[in-house]
Amino acid sequence: MLTSKEIRRIFLEFFQSKGHKIVASAPLVVKNDPTLMFTNAGMNQFKDLFLGNVEIKYPRIANSQKCLRVSGKHNDLEEVGIDTYHHTMFEMLGNWSFGDYFKKEAIEWAWELLTSVYKLPMDRLYVTVFAGDESEGLPYDEEAEGHWRNYIASDRILRGSKKDNFWEMGDTGPCGPCSEIHIDLRSDEERAAKPGGELVNQGHPKVIEIWNLVFMEFNRKADGTLEKLPARHVDTGMGFERLTMALQGKQSNYDTDIFQPLIKKIELITGLSYGSDEKINIAMRVIADHIRAVSFAIADGQLPSNTGAGYVIRRILRRAIRYGYSYLGVRTAFIHTLVDTLADEMGDYYTEIREAAEFVARVIREEEVTFIRTIESGLNRLEEVVQNTPKGQKIAGQKIFELYDTYGFPYDLTSLILRERGLEADEEGFKREMQKQKERSRAATELTTGDWIELQTGGDVFIGYDALESLTSVARFRKVK
Ligand code: ATP
Ligand code: MG
Ligand code: MG
Ligand code: MG
Repeated sequence: MLTSKEIRRIFLEFFQSKGHKIVASAPLVVKNDPTLMFTNAGMNQFKDLFLGNVEIKYPRIANSQKCLRVSGKHNDLEEVGIDTYHHTMFEMLGNWSFGDYFKKEAIEWAWELLTSVYKLPMDRLYVTVFAGDESEGLPYDEEAEGHWRNYIASDRILRGSKKDNFWEMGDTGPCGPCSEIHIDLRSDEERAAKPGGELVNQGHPKVIEIWNLVFMEFNRKADGTLEKLPARHVDTGMGFERLTMALQGKQSNYDTDIFQPLIKKIELITGLSYGSDEKINIAMRVIADHIRAVSFAIADGQLPSNTGAGYVIRRILRRAIRYGYSYLGVRTAFIHTLVDTLADEMGDYYTEIREAAEFVARVIREEEVTFIRTIESGLNRLEEVVQNTPKGQKIAGQKIFELYDTYGFPYDLTSLILRERGLEADEEGFKREMQKQKERSRAATELTTGDWIELQTGGDVFIGYDALESLTSVARFRKVK
């Protein structure tokens, strides 16, 4: 079985052998583009090459790019941990042609790499091509379909709409029709019962997209219209973690050697096992995923903060802390101890993470300590609310909203704690408050709303063990040394 490190190396060597110059990943944090906060695809660092703003030095380039999809046009945050193949940070393997080769070679080499080099079984692969879009006057991609017919049966070539087969970096910028490769990882029985083609792009966890070949031909302007680029380019992106899952015979990215060391470490710390309970599984996946995003963002210079990109990073970290606290039952800071494992696993290729490991761990630890205190203040407040509510009465929606808004308690967590004490939450009232807040903040920017607004607490609040006992049905609490 190939290791993930070998899989990355083979990709780069393959494209090197086809005349590509191998370049380093750009940083996760984008500092010079007002349309983009974080790198969301391999092509970002080449934006000016596509637009024709700078001279093309190397017409063929390949790399493995750190990407982060937690804001803007490409935002997967809410899926992460719930499903097993969307990450916040992931690596995108890419090859580019800047005004050089086009659809024929892009398709030929993608097929050669997947089927002859990596030896993925052809009978599990499907491809999609752009069906065209009348409203924008874009034609169906007959050319790409023609090339695919040299390699794959026509019933495995599907036509997709703009949503899946026209790639755009953001609201503006380079874009174009794309052709994607999907893999069906279901069992033989499942595949016999239903053709995989029907499940492509339907969100099926085992029929997933692995590689996108974009044929860059347009620039989306600020007024929403498309203009032709001065030249035609190729921009491809393959999900490294998904490819590794397929090549290692797994059905979840978290079962690959990319994530297993992190999952194992979390198991060791918590004394819980991955696979034993769906809530525990989700929590472990969230933490294993988010530690990567947060660590690399910090190593690339983006510290958690209360504004802009820093606030996005803080929210990702707090999402991990909340899952650890609520579902794994760890009451003390522990997520920062995963940084060492991450640096050991990824530091050979991404040396920045090894170099910054100590600093990164320190920053994360401080954030953890502060936020755990906030959570505990929230539990304290909830206790007060319970004491002040007459027996037999539901806990007011407005109070539950306050816990959500000020202390970052999701509704589910509050109602769970209440249920365990035989109390009921006023869900309707909570929803009304949420609605009111939405209306209030409609005009506000995306970044000022969010579920993790920090509370300015006045000093330390200690909540005794009893207050936490109520959570024991989802998790046992233990001190971590
Ligand atoms: P999906 O439809 O699965 O959300 P996408 O169409 O948004 O993927 P692209 O923008 O085409 O993805 O990116 C190219 C490749 O990057 C995808 O084919 C996939 O393999 C990988 N990829 C995209 N988003 C993620 C993510 N959040 N985590 C891991 N890999 C991803
Ligand atoms: Mg997506
Ligand atoms: Mg897609
Ligand atoms: Mg895609």
